[in-house]
Amino acid sequence: MRDLTKTVIHPEVSHDGFSSLSVPTARASTILFRDAEEYATRGQRGLDGYSYGLHGTPTSRTLEAQLTDLEGGVRTVLVPSGQAAITVIMLTVLMPGDTVLIPDNVYPPVTGFCANYLAPRGINFRVYDPMAGEQISDLFDATTKLVWVESPGSTTMEVQDIPAISKAAKARGILVGCDNTWATPLLFKPLENGADFSMHALSKYAGGHSDLLMGSITVSDLDLRRRLRDTMRMIGLGVSPDDVTLTLRGLETMGVRLAHVGKVSIEFAERLAQMPGVGTVLHPALPSCPGHDIWKRDYSGASGLFSVVLPVSGEPLLAGALAKLKTFAIGSSFGGTRSLIAPMSVKSFRTIAAAQNESTILRISVGLEDPQDLWADLAAFFEAMLPA
Ligand SMILES: *Cc1c(COP(=O)(O)O)cnc(C)c1O
Repeated sequence: MRDLTKTVIHPEVSHDGFSSLSVPTARASTILFRDAEEYATRGQRGLDGYSYGLHGTPTSRTLEAQLTDLEGGVRTVLVPSGQAAITVIMLTVLMPGDTVLIPDNVYPPVTGFCANYLAPRGINFRVYDPMAGEQISDLFDATTKLVWVESPGSTTMEVQDIPAISKAAKARGILVGCDNTWATPLLFKPLENGADFSMHALSKYAGGHSDLLMGSITVSDLDLRRRLRDTMRMIGLGVSPDDVTLTLRGLETMGVRLAHVGKVSIEFAERLAQMPGVGTVLHPALPSCPGHDIWKRDYSGASGLFSVVLPVSGEPLLAGALAKLKTFAIGSSFGGTRSLIAPMSVKSFRTIAAAQNESTILRISVGLEDPQDLWADLAAFFEAMLPA
């Protein structure tokens, strides 16, 4: 071989005696085949085979298998973001003329996708009260193909009765997709509670360090997996093995991180609820949170994200109070090591009236800093929010 050839063909080295706890990062666009026969039949390799890097490498298969096991499903697919996981499910099951039901408190970009992408293409959506439970069936008609649930819901934290909604949907042959990002499969298992799709923004607790974007969809039906594959291939969606490696690493510590932030978030929510002038605290672990009883029944714990409805009188004081924060950072997203605060206004996203929709809602994501530093920050913040 001449030098130029030697620069592009890597030598084979022994793997004998090498064993590591980490999952190798398998990067690939091209997949090689041993002979003409293997190449010609590559299309028959099935859901778990390898044919092109976009459709998976051993690294992504490892994370998929790990999530499948945690969710109690049969297969998982990975997509570039949590939002992509939601849109891929909707694009897979909805045809022109069909209707999807979305809760009023859904992650706002989902409403945007339904209104600005699906609706112009003849796929309808209807918004429902997240506390509807089995009454959701009042909204079903012949065009209803998918009920989307998100529990607890974005910002206002209502916990949905997913078993009741799923039972009503199943009776009419309607599929249910669940955004399980808040709980992760460690605190709630949507497929065991009747959902057909369990979806996660791995960007949050699984990634765990605010530095990657990825989504997952787990199903308990192989045919749904095949339909998801077809959508993803046609659109051309895949994930980077490097990001998968980061997610595999994040997943290893998710359990201890979640246990810690869950405990601290409940503690903070209970203390804030006792403090004068704080407003309404929205945390599934508090009896005042809509769906608290459902949370107690269906969830094995809390994660680190909760909200506080700020008193309207405090609005002019908000910017000054936020400036007092030393440990909390201001930003959206959640699930990383740093604690975050984000003042949210949900009114423009909501159609079902509730007084709290008029107010600013402070979304608090507890991270891994010392809880005493975090509490000092919250105390200073709410002190600054009190009218003089
Ligand atoms: C963040 C989030 C998403 C979207 O995830 P990205 O990876 O940021 O696209 C979807 N649903 C919920 C509940 C989220 O919090």
